[in-house]
Amino acid sequence: MPDSGERTTDVLVIGGGTAGFGAALAAARRGLRVSLIEAAAKIGGVMACCPGMPWGGGYPVGRNIGGVFEELTTRLMGSTPPAAAVRPSTLENFGAEVIYDHEAATFAMFGMLEEAGVDVHLDTIAGAPTLDGQRIAAVGAFDRRGPLSVRSRMVVDCSGDGDLSAKAGVPYTVGSGTGDMMSVTLSFTMIGVDRDRAFAETDPYFEHYAAQGIREGRLHPDLAKLYLMRGFHDGTVFCNTVHLRGVDGTDPSARVRATQEGRRRCRDLARFLVDRVPGFEHARMIDLGPTVGVRETRRLEALHRITGEEVANATRFDDGVVACDNPIDEVMRGAGAMTHPAAVARGAYYTIPLRSLIPRRIGNLLFAGRLVCADPVAFASVRGMPQCMAMGQAAGTAAAIALETSVSVQQVDRRRVVDALIEQGLNRIGGCDAPAPG
Ligand SMILES: Cc1cc2nc3c(=O)[nH]c(=O)nc-3n(C[C@H](O)[C@H](O)[C@H](O)COP(=O)(O)OP(=O)(O)OC[C@H]3O[C@@H](n4cnc5c(N)ncnc54)[C@H](O)[C@@H]3O)c2cc1C
Repeated sequence: MPDSGERTTDVLVIGGGTAGFGAALAAARRGLRVSLIEAAAKIGGVMACCPGMPWGGGYPVGRNIGGVFEELTTRLMGSTPPAAAVRPSTLENFGAEVIYDHEAATFAMFGMLEEAGVDVHLDTIAGAPTLDGQRIAAVGAFDRRGPLSVRSRMVVDCSGDGDLSAKAGVPYTVGSGTGDMMSVTLSFTMIGVDRDRAFAETDPYFEHYAAQGIREGRLHPDLAKLYLMRGFHDGTVFCNTVHLRGVDGTDPSARVRATQEGRRRCRDLARFLVDRVPGFEHARMIDLGPTVGVRETRRLEALHRITGEEVANATRFDDGVVACDNPIDEVMRGAGAMTHPAAVARGAYYTIPLRSLIPRRIGNLLFAGRLVCADPVAFASVRGMPQCMAMGQAAGTAAAIALETSVSVQQVDRRRVVDALIEQGLNRIGGCDAPAPG
């Protein structure tokens, strides 16, 4: 985009998290002009807020979902030295996860966007849409030079929070449906850990240490489960455990307050680990997240709402765009606990339908990632980063095919989108190529 206020593009992707990455890449690879607007200074979204957080859910029933996720993991694993590895999750009902070098991963993602010719704008925030009937005619945005107006033939909202889609009148639900959203989390890594001694403890939650810390008044009561896991590099332990309840991720002030409180709790936890948990005696904190990671805010209304029942029944939709077998990974909604019961029977998986990414009315808008239309139970399963990347890839491909065939997103030939995604390497989609579980 040139510097001045008025810009045009074919596809405007809002948000450069895992979903926006997939969407921008897919649309640009079909030869379209694609602009990606990201409010932060880095690609990754939640992944950038929680450096080192494993990609979970990428291997339903033991097989990579394919598409851009497989491309990225293959690129990282094939680099010298390897910058990623696959391993079993230490948590019940989670399958294999990919652990990676955070800087190498975000560098590779940016490189893939560059190679595809995506026009990436960081530190740029999208504001309000200008509507022309049932279409978005332009999107207002702002960077340090001032206001911008972007005219785009298609818009893909991958912002996680969906401010723009909400302003465009797309109906939405928040969190549990009664306003309770999953907790937000500030993560950090400990370096210099003697991991053999630390992980002589077999409880992935280190619960008896946590209970001691709470009893001694050193840890917040919400730290009853310390989720500590081996980081990618030797001697590192990733701490995805400082959860803060009742934070509205769409409220910037609430996020700031939560981040500062999170920093206090992370500091207390790091000190406690050093003082009390074997193996951490000579460790120190690195990579404290720049801000809390937000799991859940708005979910937009679409042509189809995925339900917990469909997930439990291992439903494979004709327009399924990615396979998933992640558990129902709920993290402290309201006064709730952290739970992750299995979503489907062992050896089964379900798919996420393209229709859950297509709004009912606006003709040139799609969305992906954690904006997916799902009920609270289904959402707790579909939200893994590999699935978000694939949903983005599907939305970007659907946007391109709608433009190529001069139809609205509601009229796009969904079979054609699925076929294009199969060509791009996504597997077990669109009615599926694997036998149903016995
Ligand atoms: C603490 C935490 C732990 C998690 N653990 C795991 C895990 O271990 N494994 C796993 O696979 N998944 C995990 N998840 C889930 C997963 O990280 C998210 O569901 C996924 O990253 C969401 O991706 P997204 O692209 O939809 O949204 P986001 O990652 O939220 O990205 C949205 C992007 O849009 C940008 N944006 C927002 N508004 C605007 C605007 N107006 N203009 C421009 N840009 C905007 C934001 O800055 C952000 O970069 C976790 C989530 C959290 C929060």
